[in-house]
Amino acid sequence: MHGEKDLETTLLGPVLADRDCGDCTACCTVLTVDTPDFKKPAGTPCTHLTAHGCGIHAVRPPICRSWFCAWRRVAAMPDEARPDRSGLLVSINFVREPRNCFEGVSINVRALAGSDAIENGMAATILDSLCDRLIPVWFSDGSKKMLMHPENDVASLVNSGEPAPAHLRNEVAAWRKRYGVFAANG
Ligand code: SF4
Ligand code: SF4
Repeated sequence: MHGEKDLETTLLGPVLADRDCGDCTACCTVLTVDTPDFKKPAGTPCTHLTAHGCGIHAVRPPICRSWFCAWRRVAAMPDEARPDRSGLLVSINFVREPRNCFEGVSINVRALAGSDAIENGMAATILDSLCDRLIPVWFSDGSKKMLMHPENDVASLVNSGEPAPAHLRNEVAAWRKRYGVFAANG
């Protein structure tokens, strides 16, 4: 991938030189994969995992190529936010048939089972580092998924297309310009 920037690089920036996975194998363990060419259950290390990461990296399945770990790209996320340390998996998420403006392309912060990231403040630290840009941010705790950014009043105006009050007009217009294509009435 040279020359033109891919979408994930445009949104999050490039992979940072000092953000190696190290001992973390969270994404290759936690996630469910269920595609025609590759399946693995949630919470089970992938059979292709080795002591040095993915043993088939050069030919890994398409689903693995479309996984983008935000911790490796967002310098504002602290080092301690590495998913195996923080209990939070943060990724760019693409939904093929979004139900609203904020589902098509977004950042997804997922609390792993047993994570104490809400109690120890890491979830708030990570959300603070992500909720300052024109990218929707969702938080899921395993049982429900909540839109954290933008605020609810902005989100409902962007989704409905209704006129925004003066103090929200510019913000709503910016979101609508970038994500209006995903609106139900878009
Ligand atoms: S979750 Fe991120 S840091 Fe951990 S193994 Fe996956 S890509 Fe690497
Ligand atoms: S194939 Fe490689 S990248 Fe994909 S889940 Fe398995 S170890 Fe991870």
